[in-house]
Amino acid sequence: MSVARADRLAGLAAEEGLDALLVTGMVNLRWLTGFTGTSGLAVVGDGLRAFVTDFRYVEQAADQAGAFAQHRCERELADALPAVLGARARIGFDDAHLSVKGHRDLAERLSGAELVPAGGLVERLRAVKDPGEIEAIRAAAALADAAFEATVSAGLVGRSERAVALALGDEMRRRGAQRPSFDSIVAAGAHGALPHAVPRDEPIPAGSLVVIDWGAELDGYCSDCTRTVAAGEPDAEAAEVFGIVLAAQEAALASVAPGAGGRAVDAVARDLISAAGHGERFGHGLGHGVGLEVHEAPRLSKASDATLEAGNVVTVEPGVYLPGRLGVRIEDLVAVTADGHDVLSSLPKALRTVG
Ligand code: ZN
Ligand code: ZN
Repeated sequence: MSVARADRLAGLAAEEGLDALLVTGMVNLRWLTGFTGTSGLAVVGDGLRAFVTDFRYVEQAADQAGAFAQHRCERELADALPAVLGARARIGFDDAHLSVKGHRDLAERLSGAELVPAGGLVERLRAVKDPGEIEAIRAAAALADAAFEATVSAGLVGRSERAVALALGDEMRRRGAQRPSFDSIVAAGAHGALPHAVPRDEPIPAGSLVVIDWGAELDGYCSDCTRTVAAGEPDAEAAEVFGIVLAAQEAALASVAPGAGGRAVDAVARDLISAAGHGERFGHGLGHGVGLEVHEAPRLSKASDATLEAGNVVTVEPGVYLPGRLGVRIEDLVAVTADGHDVLSSLPKALRTVG
């Protein structure tokens, strides 16, 4: 698997006029080589597949990243690079994942070469998942869905937001998740009007809508889902706003297909919410890619220039946030297929009332 990925990356690097590309971000390194340690770098170029690590990870790297020629550095990873790169002149580096010190270390050791900022090449490839990755994300989503069901079926009224968030995390870990893929959001009533609310110790009042946004990390891959649940009977305004968001979510989800623009899919939801009079209350983009990271390419938003292609995995998560009153967000995870899409989230979306 990593052989094919390295070949594609080497091709992309050559298209960019690079003689070699350094891969230093740890998530990119994992995707490219399979290495899950915390110290390493990879180099790809024409006929070049090299992996550098320090003494702590020599065995792990040989085991996980065996498709790459193994090098061990003495002190700093960059020490090994002159020998690895030889006379190669134009060396791409990931400017999004390299510190100023990291760049200085490179520049000192590769003084005869030209260091070319080339961030985003691995991310571009990572945006298109292979079938094994999609299954890994589907498994993370299924685990997270089961954890949600176990947590919410116990009721919400009177429990604190924080207690519910902690329970959700425990349920995910109990089912095999390494960790939540991000800090769970549990936000009741007016607190739900903050799209990135941090759970409080406040008890959840009866009659409130509760926004719950959570995900699991399983075998390195993330899931991401949001459901808005009624804790006790919701009032008419809450039910109406919920209906608007649900209609927007379902319409946008239905438009996910190869060839659809990230901006166009966003607009499907945004236009419906605007027509219902809440355009100003949907302040974030419609969705984002999910994979080894919970936020990655491609984006679905007003500013997106992405075009969806088979293998993308994105969220579709419109929301309406009425300050001081309530928030509603509904989010599914969906894979783009050759002829449409495949929803990876399995939880029903109709407004659910729990005690
Ligand atoms: Zn989310
Ligand atoms: Zn999301």
